[in-house]
Amino acid sequence: MRALDIIQKKKSGEELTREEIKFVIDGFTAGEIPDYQMSALAMAICFKGMCDREVADLTDAMMHSGDTLDLSMFGERSVDKHSTGGVGDKTSLVIAPIVATLGGVVAKMSGRGLGHTGGTVDKLESIEGFHTTISGEDFLAQAEKVGVVIAGQSADLAPADKKLYALRDVTATIDSIPLIASSIMSKKLAAGSHSIVLDVKVGSGAFMKDMDSASRLAETMVAIGKACGRRVRALITNMDVPLGKAVGNSLEVIEAAGVLKGEVEGDLKDICVALAANMVSMVNVIPYEEAERLVLYSIDSGKAFEKMKEWIAAQGGNSAYLDDTSLFPKAKFVYELKSGREGYIAKTDAEKIGVASSLLGAGRMKAGDPIDYSAGIEIFAKTGDYVAKGDVIARLHTSDESLLSGAAAKYAEALSFSDLAPGPEVLIYKTVE
Ligand code: URA
Repeated sequence: MRALDIIQKKKSGEELTREEIKFVIDGFTAGEIPDYQMSALAMAICFKGMCDREVADLTDAMMHSGDTLDLSMFGERSVDKHSTGGVGDKTSLVIAPIVATLGGVVAKMSGRGLGHTGGTVDKLESIEGFHTTISGEDFLAQAEKVGVVIAGQSADLAPADKKLYALRDVTATIDSIPLIASSIMSKKLAAGSHSIVLDVKVGSGAFMKDMDSASRLAETMVAIGKACGRRVRALITNMDVPLGKAVGNSLEVIEAAGVLKGEVEGDLKDICVALAANMVSMVNVIPYEEAERLVLYSIDSGKAFEKMKEWIAAQGGNSAYLDDTSLFPKAKFVYELKSGREGYIAKTDAEKIGVASSLLGAGRMKAGDPIDYSAGIEIFAKTGDYVAKGDVIARLHTSDESLLSGAAAKYAEALSFSDLAPGPEVLIYKTVE
């Protein structure tokens, strides 16, 4: 077999066989197929697509390119959640403890932030002492004892995807549904959970900008998971507006703890309840409505917040930070951004708000860059809100004063105003299963 012939075949729009896909992925992972041939194939896939069988074979080849985690000891209790990435998305921090109080085991690998989206690992590391590098043995022991463990993505899990993703990032080959679906599902399947809830974001702050692409991505990922014997459900949710009112690492942890303390209502809580209820209904095989009641009870009774503290402490974190969030180090500079006009906020470009937060020091421009955990944005007015001239619409936090003006300009660019109230934002568009 030759990589050249396989590239030519896909370029002509033909289907690749399972053996051809495995040959390319194995060869690429081993360093025998060079980056330029892999990029040419990725570009051919972008243009010509793949059928469901090819996507399943590509996922399987990437999933088996390295280690796979064995969570079979938890039977059908293991459950994972994956978001395709958004701005202000701190849902894992809220959901994992809730689900653990209701019979689920959330043993999860998460990523760091890159570009305009944040990462769960960075958020957690803003808590003093919290560590995300955990041995395999400790990972499983904590999952058993606490019901929640979140570690950084292991380099040995789906290494083909890690290498291919880095290549796609610099060859304009990210935006292909077969490549995105196989990338996400290879990691999720290798991570071993029996049930998986996918939060497919659609809108200005998401990879998928329109409903049609988001639906196709969701359907493709659900079909891959089911073909591999897992329970999978996908929710297609709104990312036209940042989730909640905080963007940036420690600010997001504070907001997440606030949901479990009963202090935060609104879109963030609603989406967390929906995602957690889907996970609980899959784990316990109960109707969604019953699972939703249990989730609300877990929050209202304080059990989920106690579980969050237990989990944070189990990974070395100072859980007093969650009781008293004033312990989080503060940014040196806080700037109030005021509205230059009156009217309704008609639209928000969530990606620009994510970029503004990154510009303040909360995110990375490239992998490995240091981040400022205290940097970020508190949002005071969201799409649909009416503001008067001079009202504070956001508070920008940073440790480097010189970053404020660029971030403030980017934030202002993200908003458009209208004299008329816009229609209400839909939070969850649909469920695919
Ligand atoms: N997230 C992933 O893990 N892979 C993609 O291809 C896109 C988003």
